[in-house]
Amino acid sequence: MQVTMQSDPNTFYYGYEVGPIRPPSEARSLLLRVTRNCPWNRCAFCSIYKQSEFSERVVAHIKQDIDSIARHIESLVNPFLGRIMTGKRRHEPAGTQAYWMAFNWFRHGMKAVFIQDADSLSMPASDIIEILTYLHDKFPSIERVTSYARSSTVAKISKDSLKAMREAGLNRIHIGMESGSDAVLKMVKKGASKEIHVKAGLKVRAAGIELSEYVMPGLGGIRLSREHALETASALNRINPDFIRFRQLAIPVTAPLHATLEAGRFERCTDLQVMHELRLLISNLDGIKSSIVSDHILNLLQEVEGGLPEDKTRLLSIIDEFLEMNPQRQRLFQLGRRLGLFYGLGDLKDDGKMARVEAAYQALGISPENIDEKVSDLMTRFI
Ligand code: SF4
Repeated sequence: MQVTMQSDPNTFYYGYEVGPIRPPSEARSLLLRVTRNCPWNRCAFCSIYKQSEFSERVVAHIKQDIDSIARHIESLVNPFLGRIMTGKRRHEPAGTQAYWMAFNWFRHGMKAVFIQDADSLSMPASDIIEILTYLHDKFPSIERVTSYARSSTVAKISKDSLKAMREAGLNRIHIGMESGSDAVLKMVKKGASKEIHVKAGLKVRAAGIELSEYVMPGLGGIRLSREHALETASALNRINPDFIRFRQLAIPVTAPLHATLEAGRFERCTDLQVMHELRLLISNLDGIKSSIVSDHILNLLQEVEGGLPEDKTRLLSIIDEFLEMNPQRQRLFQLGRRLGLFYGLGDLKDDGKMARVEAAYQALGISPENIDEKVSDLMTRFI
């Protein structure tokens, strides 16, 4: 597509921008788009940015976004001034993206900011530091600024630059490790090896920035499930991240891995197999003090959450409780979870919820033979 000067968003400012995703833990955060899309864009399980090109936003435009939020916050704090701001001296009227972003952030206390999109630390460190400094100057209430970053990108940033980012107010980096297995990483074209993941993770920690590592149970398929669990545990044991966040594999039709699945070159794990894999992974986490978080809607057992090492036995017992249930109850739980009716295993004792899930089980024509295919389809709704 030819970009004309008139429509080039790097020449003209077209207003506040918001990217498509954020971590579940950033629901209350201000979303500040610093780059657009993903510079790598090749991961086989990911469909988010496949139709979009990566670009860095102009620092002056990002500052205009911050100014825009500041004006809307001012009008929320002082409604009289707000009438003037959104009436006579209107810049961005109420009802715009910036207004709703400011409104959501204001009602949640204006404490956290999430920098978008997929790999914003690929921007020059000096730009990131300039944006962070401007942001904190405008909003002294901010306690936490977080960003996604790829391991390959972090591995190339100098220690001094990372430290300077931390001093400028970057508190946490979310890295999509997905797996510690080189075979899995290669199969899904992650663009990082186990060693790169470890190097990047240790660098983030050495800079004094909190580290959140995303891991994807099921990503190795049936063939690499065991290696995926053991190698991921091994990488995490070397890094000792602050957070280990699980996000179970789901394969939307628009992800390249879907074609591999259809061609029979990837055998997807059932929920039961993923739970065995997760158990193996957690039981091999040793000598670390990470918090395990399963707050993603795609996870079968969202209640597998707690601190290591003290909660390890409890986390394994939650998985065991599911694995030891009779098969029909397992299937009902799978369906209830994927319909969004169940949060945890305790919901199986809720007669009202169970009646709804049993009715859906009949209505959807679910059987022991098709349960995994049906729940896989349901899971893609959440992506
Ligand atoms: S690095 Fe992240 S956003 Fe980019 S393709 Fe991979 S999973 Fe998707």
